[in-house]
Amino acid sequence: MKKKQKQLTSVVTGAAGFLGSHLTDLLLKRGHKVIGIDNFVTGSVDNIVHLGGNPNFKFIQQDVTEFIFLDGPVDYVWHFASPASPIDYLQIPIQTMKVGSLGTHKALGLAKNKGARFLVASTSEIYGDPLLHPQPEEYWGNVNTIGPRGCYDEAKRFAEALTMAYHREHKVETRIVRIFNTYGPRMRLNDGRVVPAFISQALKNKAITVFGKGTQTRSFCYYSDLIEGIYRLMMSDYDLPVNIGNPTEMTMLQFAEQIIQATGSKSKIVHKPLPQDDPKQRKPDIAKAKKILKWEPQVKLADGLTDTIAYFRTKV
Ligand code: UDP
Repeated sequence: MKKKQKQLTSVVTGAAGFLGSHLTDLLLKRGHKVIGIDNFVTGSVDNIVHLGGNPNFKFIQQDVTEFIFLDGPVDYVWHFASPASPIDYLQIPIQTMKVGSLGTHKALGLAKNKGARFLVASTSEIYGDPLLHPQPEEYWGNVNTIGPRGCYDEAKRFAEALTMAYHREHKVETRIVRIFNTYGPRMRLNDGRVVPAFISQALKNKAITVFGKGTQTRSFCYYSDLIEGIYRLMMSDYDLPVNIGNPTEMTMLQFAEQIIQATGSKSKIVHKPLPQDDPKQRKPDIAKAKKILKWEPQVKLADGLTDTIAYFRTKV
């Protein structure tokens, strides 16, 4: 007789967030039991309401900077809790630093205590305003520690360092993913990031606010591609940082034009001041993900935007 395989248990911090909730859905689909933790500072109950009554999903409303008490075995800890939009972390810089530092400490402590594997959601922001383009994982970055974005960038840099410390000293199995700009359904309409901002402006036929001249570049990855890459990283045996993102790069002016076209909007473009320390260019070097995880993005921007715009139409 075939022995029944043990059901795996994952803990997802930030489970009610944009990426945390999509990750939770993927894990449930792949047979995991998921314990989601969120304090709803930037997450929303709307992102997990469809999981109500699912016997494989348990939710705990908690700030992960406080000690995490959990009964029973845990196989994987996915630490996704953090504000992630520049507008958010400008408003709550201390909470942003606390979740990146104390929250990472608690999540690592949980993984150590349970003998679980740990993955931290790091970010392309650790490269700051990069002087090397595209950005490979070996690049150490160019961050203004005391600038407005420093609270997020340095918290994530600390989170990476703490993760490596737990790996080296306590032999915790750890993974570090550096997430580049990602978009899709469940982003907050008013979170200030460029994708929800431009789409909501376009859907309301309001002016599209391009910051600065709009020559700064970003490279947008659809959430489903990103989550698949992160899943593969957790299941791999690679314990150094891996960039996950889409290398298709464009200027913010080009992006504004694409959004106007994709929504059929009458909006005009207006220019607003460029925020301090806004990175001039960003594009992941994904050679490592391709080689180690056999991963690369599949969803074209036009297709991902169609689904994202359809989602935002229900929200504006
Ligand atoms: N941006 C913009 N208009 C907006 C919001 C953002 O031109 O209404 C620009 C912003 O200056 C940055 C890029 O879009 O260069 C991406 O910004 P976002 O806030 O999405 O995240 P970032 O990549 O800077 O972390």
